[in-house]
Order: sequence, then C-alpha cells, then structure tokens
Amino acid sequence: MAVKTAKRTEQVPQVYWRDLGGRILLTNDFGSHALMTEAEFRRYIKTGAAPSPALKEKLGPAGFLRERLDMEALVAGWRKRNAFLFAGPGLHILVMTLRCNQGCLYCQSGAVKSSGPGTDMSWETARRCVDFAFASPAPAITIEFQGGEPLLNWGVLKKTVDYARALEKKKGKPLNLALISNFTLMDDKKAEFLLSRECSICTSLDGPADLHDRNRPLTGASSHAAAVKWLKYFKRRSDNQGPGYRIFKPGALLTVSKGSLGRGREIVDEYVRLGLEDIFLRPLAPIGYAKRAWDKIGYSPEEFSRFYSGTLDYIISLNARGTRIKEKTASMFLEKILAGRDPGFMDARCPCGAAVGQVAYDPRGQVYTCDEGRMMGWEGDDMFRIGDVRGLDYGKLAAAPASRACCASSNLEQQPMCSRCAYRPWCGVCPVYNYEAQHSLWGHMPSNGRCAVFMGIFDAIFRALAAPKKAKILAGWTGK
Ligand code: SF4
Ligand code: SF4
Repeated sequence: MAVKTAKRTEQVPQVYWRDLGGRILLTNDFGSHALMTEAEFRRYIKTGAAPSPALKEKLGPAGFLRERLDMEALVAGWRKRNAFLFAGPGLHILVMTLRCNQGCLYCQSGAVKSSGPGTDMSWETARRCVDFAFASPAPAITIEFQGGEPLLNWGVLKKTVDYARALEKKKGKPLNLALISNFTLMDDKKAEFLLSRECSICTSLDGPADLHDRNRPLTGASSHAAAVKWLKYFKRRSDNQGPGYRIFKPGALLTVSKGSLGRGREIVDEYVRLGLEDIFLRPLAPIGYAKRAWDKIGYSPEEFSRFYSGTLDYIISLNARGTRIKEKTASMFLEKILAGRDPGFMDARCPCGAAVGQVAYDPRGQVYTCDEGRMMGWEGDDMFRIGDVRGLDYGKLAAAPASRACCASSNLEQQPMCSRCAYRPWCGVCPVYNYEAQHSLWGHMPSNGRCAVFMGIFDAIFRALAAPKKAKILAGWTGK
C-alpha cells in the first residue's frame, strides 16, 4: 500500500506501521498497537484524528492521538515493559561439561565426546560461578545447568545445587534452579534429588520418534524413548504434588530442522499426547555445527515462516476445541504486546540480554555474554568473552568491551531498519548471530535471516490478533 507520508500533518505523533494484507498495524515507542482498515489508516495518518469513535477509545490511551498524550502513564508502561534495564544479569548459565553422549545434527553447544582438560567444570570453579551469580544486582537469579550433557558431571552438579540453595538462604536472594538434559542418564535417585531441591527440568523433544531420533542420534538406543520416559515421569510427579516441596511441570525444547517442515501437526500432536502445555518452535541458527551442516538441515526464513504460521494456526485451532497448548515464542511476545510485561526473553530485548540480562560460564570459569557467545569462544573466537570468574566483579563486567559492544549493537534505535520497524517495541537483534552470519556485530537487517524469521513470527501473531476469535485465545496465553 502506498501512503504519501509527505502529506502527513503535524497532528500525528511518532508512529510505525505495517501492511498485513487487508489490515494495517500501527505501533509506537510506548509498545502500544492498533489494527485498522486501510481506509481508517489513511484518514488517521492524514488528520491525526481517530477514524471512528470505537478507535478513539483505543487510540487515545495508547498514545496515538496527540491531544490525548498522557506522558506519565505512557512512560510508566514503558518502564514496566523494560524493567530488566534496571536490574542486572538474572540468568546465569553454568556449562557443567562440554561432553555429551549424543551427536545432534545441529548441536550448538560445541559438545565433545571424551573428557580432556577443561571439558568438565570443577567444584572449585562451580562454587566461584555461584558466588558471582549471587553478587549480581538482580533482585532474583536463575542458575541454569547446561552442557554438553550436564548429568555427565553429576558429582559437581549435585554439590553445586546444594551450595546454591544454601547461599539462597544465607543471602535472602530468591533463586530458581533449572536443568537442561537429554535425560539419557537420568535415574530415580537423580530425579528425586533434583525434585527435592526444586529444580525445574527441561529436555529436547523434536517431535515423533523418527524425527527426534534422526536429529538426535544416540548410539545403540533411542534418545526419543529416554526423553518421553522421563517427561512422563516428571509430569506425573508434578500432577501429584506432595507436601514438602514444589514440583515444576517439565518443559521441552524443539529445534525446527529441515525434517520438521511439513510436519507441524504431527509434532504438536506428539506434545499434546505427552500432556505438555507449551511448545517452543525455535528456528535453527547457522551457528556452530549447524552452520557446517546447513545444506542438510537448514532452510530459508520464508520456509520457516510458512511452517511457523501454519503450526501456530493449528495450535490455535486445538485451543478452540478445548486442548490447552501454547506456542512459547508467541506467548512471550504476547506477554509484551498485550500485557506490557517482560517475559525474560533475552533474545528479544533492546538491548539484548547479553551481559546485562544473562551470562554464561564455561567449564574453565571463563565468563561470556551468553551461551551463544560462549560457543563462539569454544570455536576459538573470544569476541564475546567478558573475563575470568576469578577476579571479575559487576563493574568490570559492565565495562568489558564485549558487554559494551553487545549493548551498542543490539540497540534497535541504532539499527537503521529496526529504528523504523513496526515490530521494534517488542523485537531484538542478536550480535552473535550477526557476527557469525554477517561478519559484523551490527549485521545488516535487510538481508538478515533472523530478522526475516522474527518478522514472519510477528506477522503470524498480528494476523491472528486481527481475527476476534483467535485474538481471544491468544489473550488467554498471557494470563491477562
Ligand atoms: S530485527 Fe527485523 S523485525 Fe526486528 S525490529 Fe529489526 S527490522 Fe524489525
Ligand atoms: S547476543 Fe544473541 S544469543 Fe546472546 S543474549 Fe544477545 S540475542 Fe541472545
């Protein structure tokens, strides 16, 4: 649609817009949005006035009408949505080992098969990482155990969990514990220990057995069977909470590979069959192993967008028929769009979560801006390294070149295309992706695959929000 912006009057405050094919999306810096027809949009942009009484009710408080701008309320809403800017790193990712017993086709963790110097985190290093995490200015912290496969370093993991819980009591700082595991080494004793320490547990599940096992091969066994067995176990335990401690619902992460395309319904059905209420349709990023195997497992942003939008529609239709299941990317964006709250989605913040929202610790105690930055370090490029946990403090962390470079390059106001994009209030760019895929921290959004993927996701969400029945279901995903 062509709009002669030269004729726009001074009556219209700063707004962004996007043609969704039949409906126009209007947004602003306060994170408000409105959907209108093309004719309504033309009238609005020409006069700055609401094109109808119903729209006036919506546009006024949302900051779209100059004569009704309530700056105090709008700024308070902006501050709530961006509360993370005033906190400090809340997410601390401890890579307990680089070793893994699986050989996933798209593995981004830089996993190795056998032990060697620096592949397992020592207890001394883990303790220092936990001490550093608790020194964060963030009012609450999450410690996430990752790998490789973290259960391969069970002795240190166990000790670290108990140490972190003891420190939580001593310091009075709320702590969430989370474990990401492929479950192949899980057993009753480990499960009981983790549950009794209120550790939330998440695994990978790419869909039905054939797809999952192809993506995540395990010598001599099915990785899908292990994932399913323990997902059922943790689900049963969380459904039957006993006294003493809180048991979280288990979570699963899906990585969309070439093999997933065209199989959205089957994948969602597998999640429903297992009683999971969230599915996270995560696109593959051309980083690490995935970059080298891209021809075999990768796809174009357009292919992903088609997959995403079709699968989201299917999930919405299941909800309409009474099945509870949410798509995680959509629900996190909806939390921002509809509820004005920060869901803690590090990759969709401005600036992104690198160093200011999260840090990752490798087994040697080297601190990186995030786990993706840590993977770059493992590949031999320390661009995203902040320092050594021994001798680091939060002043040094904030002043580190890696932290400052990530903040500057992920500031959407400095990104030429993002600064004028209708999705800017809720989006985020990734300096690691840009560096790896486009050889600069700033990247180039018009040809950036991640930008195209995010744009496709936002388009799918707003098209659904433009349809009243679907919008009602999506509003239910935010708890608003
Ligand atoms: S990354 Fe792309 S979708 Fe996101 S704000 Fe920038 S231009 Fe818009
Ligand atoms: S650099 Fe990328 S992966 Fe790291 S926190 Fe920022 S958006 Fe996330």
